[in-house]
Amino acid sequence: MTERPGFPAKLPATGVTRSPRPPLGGGAKASIAAQGDQAGRRPVSAAVAASGSAPLRARMVSKLAAQGLQDPMVLQAMGSVERHLFVETALAVQAYEDTSLPIGLGQTISKPNVVARMIELMREGVLGKLGRILEIGTGCGYQAAVLSHVASEVYSIERLRSLHEKARENLRPLRLHNVHLIFGDGMLGYPKGGPYAGIISAAGGESVPQAWLDQLAPGGRLVAPTVTATGQQALVVMVRTAKGFERHVLEAVHFVPLKSGVA
Ligand code: SAH
Repeated sequence: MTERPGFPAKLPATGVTRSPRPPLGGGAKASIAAQGDQAGRRPVSAAVAASGSAPLRARMVSKLAAQGLQDPMVLQAMGSVERHLFVETALAVQAYEDTSLPIGLGQTISKPNVVARMIELMREGVLGKLGRILEIGTGCGYQAAVLSHVASEVYSIERLRSLHEKARENLRPLRLHNVHLIFGDGMLGYPKGGPYAGIISAAGGESVPQAWLDQLAPGGRLVAPTVTATGQQALVVMVRTAKGFERHVLEAVHFVPLKSGVA
């Protein structure tokens, strides 16, 4: 895994770095978007419109690599999916910053760093594409789009009908034929698509549902934010080995709750 994607390390002059970042939802953001920042540089939204968003993604990918993410296939995927298309227009200005963003109904799209980290953990030890994988919590469909670049088939399940439909709309123009969106309770997994080489949950539960473990293929890896012995939520990785399951508890995270049933 020595290959690195050929993204430019730096943004051309049209790129904008603002520091400190304006508050979420504040008027400052709107005025920056309209007029450019104090240094007279062009606003991100204008840069997106005028030159395409590729340089902003390239900068995001450089940051991810600097933060220690190194799976070339994941970095490549993060560099190709247009995150700004998955959030409301007013938030597009922040789409390539390392921040989580609201997607409606109290749900959020994770920070790019967390999306990349979880996918990297799921793919650990695999050089090529994974086989079939399952995502619990489609949300706006962003992570499903990223996953479509690193696995042969992506099954993504969402329990909120309006988000399921929003994801469908967001993904339609991308024509990702290997992404299958399902409306249902992801706590039950999705046996029809399994067994899975990888399972990733975008919502945090009290424990890892048995159904997910049952649907994991031998050698498969599951990554899920889960409440651990300390009462805090952390990333938990479960690996299905010949002997059973290995459980690894990693860093603390803050995900929206995993809920049962549909709405
Ligand atoms: N991966 C998403 C992030 C969505 S946030 C994205 O890229 O946008 C987490 C999502 O998990 C929410 O949309 C929430 O409704 C969903 N969720 C929570 N519990 C669920 C369950 N049991 N089954 C399916 N989806 C669930």
